This record gives sequence, C-alpha cells and structure tokens, in this order.
Amino acid sequence: MQAQEDFEGGEGEGVEGADERRMRAAIRAAREAAGRGEVPVGAVVVGGDGKVLAVAGNRTRADCDPTAHAEIVALREAARRAGNYRLTGAVVYSTIEPCAMCAGALVQARVRRLVYGAPDARAGAVRSIFRICDESSLNHRMELTAGVLEEECRALMQEFFRERRQRRDE
Ligand SMILES: [Zn+2]
Repeated sequence: MQAQEDFEGGEGEGVEGADERRMRAAIRAAREAAGRGEVPVGAVVVGGDGKVLAVAGNRTRADCDPTAHAEIVALREAARRAGNYRLTGAVVYSTIEPCAMCAGALVQARVRRLVYGAPDARAGAVRSIFRICDESSLNHRMELTAGVLEEECRALMQEFFRERRQRRDE
C-alpha cells in the first residue's frame, strides 16, 4: 500500500527507512526550535504523493501564539501548499506524541497516518492521556506508528528541560 509513497530514499528503503528519514527531518526542526528557546518538538507533513509539504518546529514563543505547536504550524503550511484544508493522503511525523489540540487538528485535516517518536506521559493525546486519533465517535481514524527514533526524540526533550532547570537554579 505504501510502496509507491516514497522513492527518494532509493529502492528497497521500505516504509521503516522512509519513516526514519522523515523523523530525522523532524528532529532537525526540533533542534532548531531549541536553538530559539522553544520546546524542542518538530513535525513533517508528507503528501499522498510522497513529497514533503511542510517541516516545522515549535514557534509558540517566537510567534507569541499558544497554538503554534510544530504540528499545527506544519499542518497550516501543508494545507496552504496543497490548496486544500483536507490532507487526506498525508502522513504526519512528530518527534513527540501530539497533545489534545494537535491530535484534534490531525483529525480535522483527515490525515491518513501519524508517526511519532517518544510518548508524552503528561500531555499525549494519541495513547497516553486521551486517544483522540483513533476515537471511533470522531468519525475519522488514522493509522498510528509510535516509537520511531524514540530515544533521540526523548533525549532532545530531556536535555532541554534539564538545561532550563539548571539555568533556573543558578
Ligand atoms: Zn500540540
């Protein structure tokens, strides 16, 4: 089903290889966000044709916007580029399990599949706290893949919050 989705990585890369490659792009966006003092979360949206529509990191501080999570920023850009508020064939990659707001936005966009790195035990709304992305009453269910490059995604967050605590203690 996903064989034709992505040839950029060369033949034989497979879905797992493509997932890791996209997640690495999301991790780079998360690192850039950290460099701006943002919580390091990154997201990538890939269209149904396998082309990258958007890459974004968190921008809540830069934009002074509580809704400017990486996933929302990336979905907005992807929808603009696609010229459609529905992203029915799209796959979204996020370094961290999306929160309730972002999971709701993924449902609104009718995203086909969500891939994320590390779970978020405090705010995750895909499996940890709520299960918004495969809630049958919402009339849209997406495929879910968790744990892609999980350690790297988690380490980014841990590093960021450790450094922030240290600065506060100094
Ligand atoms: Zn969010």
